[in-house]
Amino acid sequence: MRPLEDFTDERLKQHCIHCGVFLAACETNEDHVPSKCLLDRPLPDHPPKVTVCAECNLKFASDEEYLSVFLAAMLTGDAMPDAGRFPRAAAAVRRNPKLHARIAWARQEQLTLFGEPDILWAPEIGRVERVIVKNARGHVLHELGEPMTDPPKSVAFFPATRLSQSQRSEFEYVDYGSHWPEVNSRLLQRILGIEPLKDGWVEVQPDVYRYAVMHEGDAVTVRTLIRSYLATEVTWALD
Ligand SMILES: [Zn+2]
Repeated sequence: MRPLEDFTDERLKQHCIHCGVFLAACETNEDHVPSKCLLDRPLPDHPPKVTVCAECNLKFASDEEYLSVFLAAMLTGDAMPDAGRFPRAAAAVRRNPKLHARIAWARQEQLTLFGEPDILWAPEIGRVERVIVKNARGHVLHELGEPMTDPPKSVAFFPATRLSQSQRSEFEYVDYGSHWPEVNSRLLQRILGIEPLKDGWVEVQPDVYRYAVMHEGDAVTVRTLIRSYLATEVTWALD
């Protein structure tokens, strides 16, 4: 990815987007958005990052690892992720038996109406939502220069593979036509083609992670598609 400078109002970035603490008064970290563990190695050049307080940065780590391992296990079809395809997730499971147990718990076998075995993957919703909201906040700050410090109005995640064709088209469709972002924002630089979007989306890593940030009227919506499987949508209502 190409580094884009952010020319939006610095005064809006003085506080941690997660806890609201004044950043100049505490230790800070550059937090990857999306979470590094959701990406493959090598990481893309200049992945998006935002400044948050060190405490929040640390606080998300175990949920981020959980989600990355859950997805790797689910896409492998087993509580032990495929070490060839997901080496870091497999290593995380090997060194952490409790994590392995949690992932195994999320994999539930059931019988279909016809008595055939079927596997249902049910992640811990709170942990998944915390990571989704963390990254969504980071995407809005990175792209629009706006801190979304309030709790979101809605958080949703679902397998993209379960969407009907029209639902999928609706999810994929990103329109900036009548709602152009702030003049100094990274998103506008993308729309103007300095770092082109892909069908309206910011592609961090092909088939691994992409996101779209939309500011329409009195709402800001962030969608992500992770590993071409997990579709997420977070919306904030603006005052
Ligand atoms: Zn914080």
